[in-house]
Amino acid sequence: MSDIPPGGKPIPIEVIEESLYEVRRKIYPRSVTGLFARWRLILVFATQLLFYGLPWVSWNGRQAVLFDLIQRKFYIFGVVLWPQDVIYLTLLLILSALALFLFTAIAGRLFCGYACPQTVYTEIFMWIERKVEGDRFARIRLDGEEWPWGFRKWRLKITKHFLWLLIAFWTGFTFIGYFTPITTLGSALIHLSLGPWQTFWLCFYAFATWGNAGFMREQVCKYMCPYARFQSVMVDKDTFLVTYDKVRGEPRGSRSKSADHESLGLGDCVDCSICVQVCPTGIDIRDGLQYMCIGCGACIDACDQVMEKVDYPKGLIRYTTERAIEDRESNQSAIRHILRPRVLIYTAFITVLTAAFLVSLVTRNPLRVDVMRDRGALAREVEGVRIENIYRIQIMNASENNMNVQVKALGLDGLKVLNSQGQVVTEIEVAPASNLLMPIKVSADTGVNQPGNYPIHFDVIAHEMSGNEMITRTRDEKSTFIIPR
Ligand code: SF4
Ligand code: SF4
Repeated sequence: MSDIPPGGKPIPIEVIEESLYEVRRKIYPRSVTGLFARWRLILVFATQLLFYGLPWVSWNGRQAVLFDLIQRKFYIFGVVLWPQDVIYLTLLLILSALALFLFTAIAGRLFCGYACPQTVYTEIFMWIERKVEGDRFARIRLDGEEWPWGFRKWRLKITKHFLWLLIAFWTGFTFIGYFTPITTLGSALIHLSLGPWQTFWLCFYAFATWGNAGFMREQVCKYMCPYARFQSVMVDKDTFLVTYDKVRGEPRGSRSKSADHESLGLGDCVDCSICVQVCPTGIDIRDGLQYMCIGCGACIDACDQVMEKVDYPKGLIRYTTERAIEDRESNQSAIRHILRPRVLIYTAFITVLTAAFLVSLVTRNPLRVDVMRDRGALAREVEGVRIENIYRIQIMNASENNMNVQVKALGLDGLKVLNSQGQVVTEIEVAPASNLLMPIKVSADTGVNQPGNYPIHFDVIAHEMSGNEMITRTRDEKSTFIIPR
């Protein structure tokens, strides 16, 4: 491009185009062992045992945890939740959010580093990658120029992707198994008779797992996860975070093991860069606290091993607080600052909400009754001796036992509850975790009461056998009875 000044020569103008996006540099994290690596492994096992195993657990002859969206019922062991129980789900979500705030205030991104599905699946996928392609340098070489595509490279890449896809599809299958009985799903899969929606969600979750854990990895934590963005407002000077002790480590520099680094004017960091090589997000913790740090502790394990080798005290990178670093306090004395207002407030909220959640769940009445007047037929006289009003009664049995239900209408003299055939309703059987909707008539003697609208109520009593114990539950529903002129 050029610009021509009046009467002058064209002046070349350099066009500088800068990409708004950082080009992704593939990260090859080095494997690491140590205390935090062990914790990550334990949590990967624990969370995945729960996730993959739970749909296979059965309870009272049914899948223990099943979110049946079609029937609009959630089964969680012995508890059956209906759409009306959305309050429990809301409470659970609030509790989870508060717990996340509490953990973050105490120890930063604990959830990200150890239990977040993105971290857990990335760990699993990286483990497979290491087993198939080798550790960091073998993988760098394999992907580099010196390894052209040949039989070995194809074999390794195909094996890795095959294993990744196997896990990804199993994850997708398990996920759908929380919404459709997993044994039915398994048999449909074996007979290749999955429905279109099941096939769609299976493929969707499988490819999401494959893409996120296999390719996106730290990109999800850096650019897609909203938690990374707002975590900084949840931490303060007393939050335990993975921190490089700059005061002790700097000035960094390599030295021989026998050298007296203090006389050389060097700090404890030998500048080996192993902490950077093990970092799954590819950051250098020595540059200070960064929002990309998921708090996994891999750099702590790596640096501790280096410190051990050079005979320096461990903990150059450690979980500590900003205040402890500034005041040169030990972690024992930093722990004294844990109980600060925000931690106490979150703990109080969590305690109160958990108590409310448990009390309401334990005292919850699994008998639900709803009575609706039939607006199409207000009232009618039957054979000149009785007045009938028509209603629809809905009885929901949210327990795991059969219920024998008696319905009485009270509030006016001589009220009787009849079924649609006109027979007196004595007892209605309602199956476990089911919902019964039936039309009923309430009849009253003519002549006993004056014409008008009378408030009445339905007294509903249900008996259920739980083990050897007979449990009685009651409900009282208000309605109106009309006696026409
Ligand atoms: S800096 Fe350390 S704790 Fe943070 S993500 Fe990297 S390895 Fe994990
Ligand atoms: S691992 Fe420790 S010693 Fe090595 S560069 Fe990182 S902080 Fe320095």
